[in-house]
Amino acid sequence: MSVFSHPEFDNHEQLTFFSDEKTGLKAIIAVHNTNLGPALGGCRMWHYASDEEALRDVLRLSRGMTYKSALANLKLGGGKSVIIGDPRQHKSEALLEMMGRCLERTGGQYIAAEDSGTSVPDLQVMSRFTDNVAGITERTGIDGLPCNGDPSPATAYGCFVGLKAAVKHQLGRDDLTGLKVAIQGVGNVGYRLAKHLRQAGAELYVTDIHEEQVRLAVTELDATAVAQEEILGLDVDVLAPCALGAVLNDFSIPQIKAKVIAGAANNQLALAKHDQMLQQRGILYAPDYVINAGGIIDIYYERVGHEHTKVRAHIDTIADTLQEIFRRADDSGRPTGEIANELAEERFMNK
Ligand code: NAD
Repeated sequence: MSVFSHPEFDNHEQLTFFSDEKTGLKAIIAVHNTNLGPALGGCRMWHYASDEEALRDVLRLSRGMTYKSALANLKLGGGKSVIIGDPRQHKSEALLEMMGRCLERTGGQYIAAEDSGTSVPDLQVMSRFTDNVAGITERTGIDGLPCNGDPSPATAYGCFVGLKAAVKHQLGRDDLTGLKVAIQGVGNVGYRLAKHLRQAGAELYVTDIHEEQVRLAVTELDATAVAQEEILGLDVDVLAPCALGAVLNDFSIPQIKAKVIAGAANNQLALAKHDQMLQQRGILYAPDYVINAGGIIDIYYERVGHEHTKVRAHIDTIADTLQEIFRRADDSGRPTGEIANELAEERFMNK
């Protein structure tokens, strides 16, 4: 397995492989860049088809975290960890404790948060052996209500703020009354985003693979239910992908009628070229890792002193960052995803 010549290798500072025969732990921790601060990122547990696939994931995702934290104005670098194994079969208290010991060995260069396959209680087990975990304490959420560590309310609020900035830029309006928004996926983030939008007077169109999620949005938020295959091409003002990645692709982009894309889902662009394809169609794309940074901002404050009003004010800066990206994109005629990457590099490189 090559590392330095791996296609996803991008001058990562540190890559550590851990194994423990007794607990069955096999893990990789990747620290991409710490120019702005210690690397923070999720600890994912996944039934990878091969070690190679796990390596690819950890290299790619850790790099993404550097860009995300830089654009979220956080004193954090980018990192990620992966535990190789099926969380339903291979997760045990002993394995999680061992992962905690491994995190301790990185000397504070990497801080783990929950991710696919791990939960806040799992991270709490790891924290018996290390302080290098985040997002595990009960705190006051950005809405002023008690929060058990779930970053979704903060992510949803950040998306709402970012969506408003995108609408203002593209459609020239501050008032969301009657704004038609289609939301793909009304789960933890999508439902909360829908709630903010409804309170602001928007007209909602929603879909989800889970019937009960749709029903909740219809009854509680007066949303209109839409078939899964219709949501992306709906005649609306804004499309908010809040379910899965790669939804913006060769097939979907020609169908999109919305003039703004602003949603929480990670890795929305199937390929880098789709950034330009959206621009050519006159669709304003709010880069996913910029608009969905509310969660990491929330987690960051747990480490530096959590005060929900400060967290909220920091999340509000997502709008400023997006405005800068949109302005630069207009001035240069280049797509927003490309500009976001460039802006992030300006912030974390040569520090
Ligand atoms: P979630 O699992 O709670 O919600 C996702 C919803 O999408 C679910 O209700 C699911 O049934 C639905 N869904 C899945 N496939 C679908 C499909 N093909 N069509 C329609 N609906 C579908 O997850 P979440 O925490 O709300 O996160 C949503 C997205 O935002 C994910 O891509 C996640 O990676 C990203 N994100 C989340 C956070 C966070 O704080 N939770 C932070 C950053 C990014």
